[in-house]
Amino acid sequence: MKHRKVFFIGAGPGDPELLTLKGKSIIERADVLIYAGSLVNPQVLNYKKKEATVYNSASMNLKEIVALISKEVKKGKTVARIHTGDPAIYGAIQEQISFLEKRNISYEVIPGVSSVFAAAAALKKELTVPERSQTVILTRISGRTKVPSRESIDKLAQSHATMAIFLSVAHIEEVVEQLLIAYPPDTPVAVVHKASWPDEKVVRGTLRSIAGKVHKAAIKRQALILVGSALGDTVGTLRSKLYHEGFAHGYRKNRQGKKKSLAIVTLTKSGAQLGTELKKKIPAAHLFVPRKLGIKGVRVKPYTQPLHDLFGELVHGYRGFICIMATGIVVRTITPFLTHKSVDPAVVVLDEKGRFAISLVSGHLGGANELAEKVASLTGGKSVITTATDVHSMPAIDLLAKQLDCSTLHYTMLKGCNYAVLHGEKVGIYPDTVKPYFPVGGKHKIRFYKTITRLLASDSAYKIIISNKQGAVTPDHKQAQDTTLLLTPRNLVVGIGCNRSTSCAEIEDTVKKVLGRAQLSFQAIKKIATVSIKSNEKGLLAFARKYNFEIEFHTPEQLNKVVCPTPPSKNVLNAVGSKGVCEPSALLSAGVTTLLCTKKKTPNVTVAVAEIPLERLLAEGKEKK
Ligand code: SAH
Repeated sequence: MKHRKVFFIGAGPGDPELLTLKGKSIIERADVLIYAGSLVNPQVLNYKKKEATVYNSASMNLKEIVALISKEVKKGKTVARIHTGDPAIYGAIQEQISFLEKRNISYEVIPGVSSVFAAAAALKKELTVPERSQTVILTRISGRTKVPSRESIDKLAQSHATMAIFLSVAHIEEVVEQLLIAYPPDTPVAVVHKASWPDEKVVRGTLRSIAGKVHKAAIKRQALILVGSALGDTVGTLRSKLYHEGFAHGYRKNRQGKKKSLAIVTLTKSGAQLGTELKKKIPAAHLFVPRKLGIKGVRVKPYTQPLHDLFGELVHGYRGFICIMATGIVVRTITPFLTHKSVDPAVVVLDEKGRFAISLVSGHLGGANELAEKVASLTGGKSVITTATDVHSMPAIDLLAKQLDCSTLHYTMLKGCNYAVLHGEKVGIYPDTVKPYFPVGGKHKIRFYKTITRLLASDSAYKIIISNKQGAVTPDHKQAQDTTLLLTPRNLVVGIGCNRSTSCAEIEDTVKKVLGRAQLSFQAIKKIATVSIKSNEKGLLAFARKYNFEIEFHTPEQLNKVVCPTPPSKNVLNAVGSKGVCEPSALLSAGVTTLLCTKKKTPNVTVAVAEIPLERLLAEGKEKK
């Protein structure tokens, strides 16, 4: 090596044996070694020659590092600048390189094994499993180094690709919150701390559970977050998990009531007495009592484990909890199991005399405020509700989204909207047909708009578009992206007819094409509807299960009563006994008389689409309250 120069070396993730042979041979001959603090295993320095000088760059800033490099090179030394993993990933080598280029100092980059691969190896996982994901995204959450907003985690997550998130474990809640905007809560996640080091730690979970587990394991740095369906169990079990009845998106209710209704949890004798009274008045509630109290009965579940463990087992199996005990106990024991408002259950705390029912967690989306009111009315006590919009009798946008049964939600933006409403800032909503469902009077400045264009042209601080159309916000509206909230209501009913043994893939493909042509959003599908003879049609059932769509079956007699745009088909009449399938079943299930999309046909599938009016969703939501 005639010319003295600088080598940027990827030292690998930690295990010194993961250093490349080339990296090792440069370390052996380098005169000066500058390594990146705690992230590089100092053992890789053992290969250096005796007289070489070593610097730890942890305490140096970039200027000091480049000054040191250039000083040493000028002295004729060979400098090894040793980075963790691979230097190309968050190695900040670009700035060092431009400095060297300006001074005509020659340099070379030696790749290394990035921690993303060491983490995948620790998990024994392929990140690109066919049919799950063929893409890996390496990213990070915004920190001191800003991530461009078009690359924010929630946007990248829309791809459902495998993601490796660097430099972010200290903000695990925020990461989870953003991922939940696009990924279902049961998406597998793993956090790998110090991959390939002797003290490597692996925490596995789902988006629902990972934050609690990371806190429990006290992982605050030097960890990678890997997320995506590729990390799921072996193919067979992943499939069964995805199709599992309990698999639910966002706060969508689990199908067939798989999520049990309510758990009344008690600690003491008088708590258990009050709990027994409540259980009588709340059908289907389960009463959890310490076994030593010897209480038995229907829906009574004696427990022996510590409360913390009990909550851990129950927290995502129940829609809501009524905890008859001190608030402090509930806060301390349940907090580690809470993930995010989109998935957390309602938690209400009740004192042993039933005087106060406190809505503690998930007031709006989980329904804890409603539950607290109901409990207070049953015990003759008072409900304690602290949600700001409720306290000021102001409309809440998250409740609106809940009533509209919206699919994915931008929680940060929802928070911003509620804040704006509360502070009397102008908030605009399209369409104006939802206006009757908002309280009149009050100090809020919500205005309603007939068209999206008018809404977007308004001076509203936030613009809320309720639409089941794809691309309701067009690229022209981009500048308004940070203040425009798109709520996709789940109000489409897809009527489907199909030949025997049509595959799930073919049905899905046809539905997507028909919706696509009509510019309707797939995420807006609430249910699918068909004729009763199809109640054992495997492909159709698999399609419903895959996306957790409700499915409704109508008898030929019911279908024959419906007036449809498309003339009756003889073939259908012979095969299933009704004049048509997709059109009448969509109309019946949506409870309307006109279709958004009339019958579209491929060789094996027919599809028609109807829409449940927004007003009906809102009216039903109000009634439930
Ligand atoms: N160039 C490095 C990344 C440097 S940024 C690489 O290719 O791996 C530092 C971040 O990398 C850490 O915050 C952490 O997210 C991740 N990281 C580095 N080494 C790691 C290891 N051994 N295990 C897990 N994560 C690691």
